[in-house]
Amino acid sequence: MRDKKNTAFLQITFGLRLKVDSSSCRMDIGKRQPHLSYRLSMHLFNSVLARILPLLPKWAARPFASPYVAGTTPSSALEVVQRLNSAGFSATLDILGEHVKSPAEARRVRNAYLELYECIYRQGLDCNISLKLTHLGLGLSESPAKENLLDLAGKARERDNFLRIDMENSDYTDQTISLYRKCRELHESTGMVLQARLRRTLADIEELCEPGFNCRICKGIYPEPAELSFTLADEIRENFSLAVRAILSRGGYAAIATHDIELINSLEDWLMENEVPHHRFEFQVLHGVPMAGRLERLLERGYRVRVYVPFGEDWFDYSIRRLRENPRILGYVIKNLFSRRCRATAQQKVPARRQPDDTVPA
Ligand code: FAD
Repeated sequence: MRDKKNTAFLQITFGLRLKVDSSSCRMDIGKRQPHLSYRLSMHLFNSVLARILPLLPKWAARPFASPYVAGTTPSSALEVVQRLNSAGFSATLDILGEHVKSPAEARRVRNAYLELYECIYRQGLDCNISLKLTHLGLGLSESPAKENLLDLAGKARERDNFLRIDMENSDYTDQTISLYRKCRELHESTGMVLQARLRRTLADIEELCEPGFNCRICKGIYPEPAELSFTLADEIRENFSLAVRAILSRGGYAAIATHDIELINSLEDWLMENEVPHHRFEFQVLHGVPMAGRLERLLERGYRVRVYVPFGEDWFDYSIRRLRENPRILGYVIKNLFSRRCRATAQQKVPARRQPDDTVPA
């Protein structure tokens, strides 16, 4: 998904909303709601751009992608992981792609992950693996995906590593949970993901959570029908907090995956008030998303922070698919282009000063 120095819409990996602060040349999350006409124009702009981008050559799309993917090869991704580890971050590697077209292709993906576990082991990295079941063949039928997944669980066990199954759209939730259970029978150090956007998530936690249950909670990237999902940002955020608390109060391990600073702040307060031991949870973010120094502060307080590092040849197609599903992601791409330009300009003027929206080290 990403080529060595640049590539890719990590933005495109997962999606969001945006606002512009034109005076400072930054787009910001947040406090003020942009005018409806502004939001409509941005939506239209993003939608048009999302349709044009697939027609462009890869080199033209590359600048949009650069900070968010760790190159196209395992070695480029492992270099990024090495640098993250040196800065105190844990990592999780994801080979970009989903919905393979044949069992043979799924097998190749399995082999690539097997090799990755081996490299992580040999290099002694603080890094595990996150994967999507449709990349292992789930879209074709359950059996190749199950076979590939169990092979990988066996390898993770052999190399004393962890395997996390990402969550895809709600068509796959039940199958993912069922395969997660099978995988966990073979290798205890297996985790999954639940999405705060989905109404069923708290019930799933009740059903699944037992000591050792390791679950990433994220908002959920996939647009879902209203009968299955919350649509208001505050409802999703509320459900996110409830889900994290439910996991922790039932003895599970929570991976808190969000860039939403307010959510991080309120969860951190709750964790401190309830004296939740640090080994019961971690924070997770996507590689390259600006976090305004918040991650370093989490590290200083002794929390584990894991960076999700996607890489691979499939960066372009994958990004375009994500983009078609959710053109709002383009807002982040553009935002970061602007922030980088602003930073470059500011750094030329005031070379010694660290800029406030530095990205996750890479
Ligand atoms: P938002 O309120 O959407 O974002 C907060 C702010 O963070 C934004 O305003 C923006 O400034 C910044 N931001 C957020 N995302 C980006 C981005 N991509 N690029 C640039 N800036 C950004 N979803 C799934 O459905 N299944 C998964 O398995 C899954 N795994 C994930 C793993 C990790 C480690 C993370 C961090 C996210 C994962 N997601 C997954 C995506 C997640 O569901 C959200 O879509 C995504 O994280 C955006 O939500 P947010 O919580 O960051 O909050």
